[in-house]
Amino acid sequence: MSNQAWLERSFNAVWHPCTQMKRHERLPIVPIASANGVWLTDFDGKRYLDGVSSWWVNLFGHGHPRIKQAIRDQLDQLEHVMLAGFTHRPVVELSERLAALSGLGHAFYGSDGASATEIALKMSFHYWKNSGQPGKIRFVSLENSYHGETVGALAVTDVPLFSSTYADLLKPGLRAPSPDARQAAPGETAADVALRAARSLENLLAKHGGEIAAVIVEPLVQGAAGMAMHDPIYLTELRRLCDRYQVHLIADEIAVGFGRTGSFFAYQQADIVPDFLCLSKGITGGFLPLSCVLARDEIYQAFYHDDVARGFLHSHSYTGNALACAAALAVLDIFEDEDALAANRAKAEAFNARLAPIAARADVRHFRHRGMIWAFDVDTTRSDFALAYFSAMLKRGCLLRPIGKTVYFMPPYTLNHEEMDWLANAAFAALDEVQAGESAATDPTALP
Ligand SMILES: *Cc1c(COP(=O)(O)O)cnc(C)c1O
Repeated sequence: MSNQAWLERSFNAVWHPCTQMKRHERLPIVPIASANGVWLTDFDGKRYLDGVSSWWVNLFGHGHPRIKQAIRDQLDQLEHVMLAGFTHRPVVELSERLAALSGLGHAFYGSDGASATEIALKMSFHYWKNSGQPGKIRFVSLENSYHGETVGALAVTDVPLFSSTYADLLKPGLRAPSPDARQAAPGETAADVALRAARSLENLLAKHGGEIAAVIVEPLVQGAAGMAMHDPIYLTELRRLCDRYQVHLIADEIAVGFGRTGSFFAYQQADIVPDFLCLSKGITGGFLPLSCVLARDEIYQAFYHDDVARGFLHSHSYTGNALACAAALAVLDIFEDEDALAANRAKAEAFNARLAPIAARADVRHFRHRGMIWAFDVDTTRSDFALAYFSAMLKRGCLLRPIGKTVYFMPPYTLNHEEMDWLANAAFAALDEVQAGESAATDPTALP
């Protein structure tokens, strides 16, 4: 069956995520038949370089043989067993290895990023209740934060479109200024901006500390905000302030964990340890849904008691699924055996060099890079920029999805030099085309 047939069936049968479906009357849905490495292939045989690791999850590209083999091997042993009262090898080994890597422990599993956020918020709230401080019930998040889209997670997510639509459903949280380095005034450094944001946060904590359970942050890079990056000193300050005002620090590393910012976890670049760590997205390399929340010993101890109601009250059917844990173990094996962090440093340098012509363009602002993330803002008059650029890149065999006027790259770590050339050349040419106003943002022949 052809692309056209599949996209029509999808349009009629599938409600696609975070999508105004009517747009797909004109903008094609891209049906993918298979994928290998950084390449997605559609039903007409056209290939697209997956420049965003399929929403940041396919860390080592698609179809990685070691992850596939680990899932096959696990399939012959045990696909799943309920985790209440039962346990199994992959969940034990994964929990031990994540603890050794993070400096935290007591791995609690969920199925996706938003549920990891929910778990961390509930745990923090419940910790204070168990510790005789039931008035600590509010959460602080940063401006332009993103922590997921379930009702609890939305309350700490600052996306105006979501907040305005669902406001009446949500328990409002407190917002602190973002340390986004793009806010630097002339002569200011990224560290200055970070320290300024930390001072505002301190005012908030000084005023409301007694009612605040936790501050939740995306360390180093606020992804959904459009890859807003900040100086690590913000995290150092945040740790100090959380200690001083007795507030938990929740590190949401759902997007930035697993090497994305250059260190295994982003918070390690600030030499701190959070109270809670949320992980998902890259954890299984894009093979199976899984998330995990790790916590400090002292937090765990506040739940450890004869009283059932003092225990953490949260569960979901697929908690600690054995196949997903086996995939996650394979991801950790790849990091170890192939020294992926060191390999990424060399790759980042090579890709940086290829993006230099884009960084130098007069219509490009705030070119930025950390680890295996690159982003820049485009000075454009086109209100349909994101869509037009997405279309212009698809035409050139690449998947990039700009956020507003920010173009970003979050490529799989397996990206080789030829693939870098393909991606960088396409990104430059697509920018020329969109800026010249020639490209149609949509394909009028997409759907009947
Ligand atoms: C994607 C993301 C989430 C939500 O994860 P889902 O699996 O989409 O629910 C939460 N926080 C951050 C920082 C994310 O990037």
